[in-house]
Amino acid sequence: MMNSHKFLKLVLDTVTQHISVIDKDGEIVYVNKNWVAFGEANNYSMHNIWDKVNYLKECDKSALRGDELGAKAAEGIRDVINKVRDFFYFEYPCHSLYEKRWFMMRVVPFGLDNKEYYVISHENITERVSAEEKVLNQSRIDGLTDIANRRYFDEFLENEWKRCTRLKLPLSLAIIDLDHFKLLNDTYGHQAGDECLRRVGAVLKKFVHRPADLCARYGGEEFAIVLGDTTAENSFNMMNDLVGDIRALGIENKNSSVIPTLTASVGVATMYPHSCDSKEKLITAADKMLYEAKESGRNKVLHSKLMPL
Ligand code: GH3
Ligand code: MG
Ligand code: MG
Repeated sequence: MMNSHKFLKLVLDTVTQHISVIDKDGEIVYVNKNWVAFGEANNYSMHNIWDKVNYLKECDKSALRGDELGAKAAEGIRDVINKVRDFFYFEYPCHSLYEKRWFMMRVVPFGLDNKEYYVISHENITERVSAEEKVLNQSRIDGLTDIANRRYFDEFLENEWKRCTRLKLPLSLAIIDLDHFKLLNDTYGHQAGDECLRRVGAVLKKFVHRPADLCARYGGEEFAIVLGDTTAENSFNMMNDLVGDIRALGIENKNSSVIPTLTASVGVATMYPHSCDSKEKLITAADKMLYEAKESGRNKVLHSKLMPL
């Protein structure tokens, strides 16, 4: 009974992985029940006619459509077929319309009757990856203001710098510093100062919506906003709105020399990043504008548009 085809098929149809077996040309020779069910649930047409499908060619086709994961899968499978490596596995996102999902693909060879076959299994690893993401996200958040911390800001700006360099897009950076915040602390106490930072953090959040944007706590009472693919004019207008919204909070700062409520000064810089430059150039330019905004009366936005090299 243990050796019967029916018994082994039931075992393979019971495991949670989606399993297919291909030959060295990439032709699919076997799939288990979960492989078919997953394809049907996700509208993958090749899963219904699996016995007429070449797995490698399907990966190549999606790679040609610009799918990096397809290219990576095809390369890994070929490496195993060509004995460049003993096995291959990689983890990839496969989000549906309704949920975030991650899978792990594994390719392992076996031989039978002088022929080579390759087991390709896909396993749902969403639970593990979600837990890891949660921990990662927590390590990126500033505890007081609930926006990104300095460490994540540095990482995000570096990535956005590279992306905008590659795609030749404008990158804007704003540094926001609260005016006479020491006076606010001295007048109303540190707790009131903390509450004020929280409220400013909430205002900043309203200005970042796209994946290329990030607001962060840059230091004590300084904040920063990264705006990828955003022109000088747009970032300047946005930051003017931001300064207006901070003012509109109406938080008392009666000893401030500007007005008796909380204000902020902002330095913005925009440039088309180039591989010969570094992101420090953008930070320095925004910092300089902030300094000038402070020197020329506070409660304003000053902007600098940097020319590419
Ligand atoms: P300016 O308009 O020139 O920026 O004046 P300022 O008083 O805001 O600048 P300064 O750098 O002299 O003071 C910043 C103050 O911010 C000093 C510090 O006590 C306060 N601060 C920094 N971090 C925190 C924090 O986490 N909570 C509170 N309540 N205050 C903070
Ligand atoms: Mg400061
Ligand atoms: Mg300040």
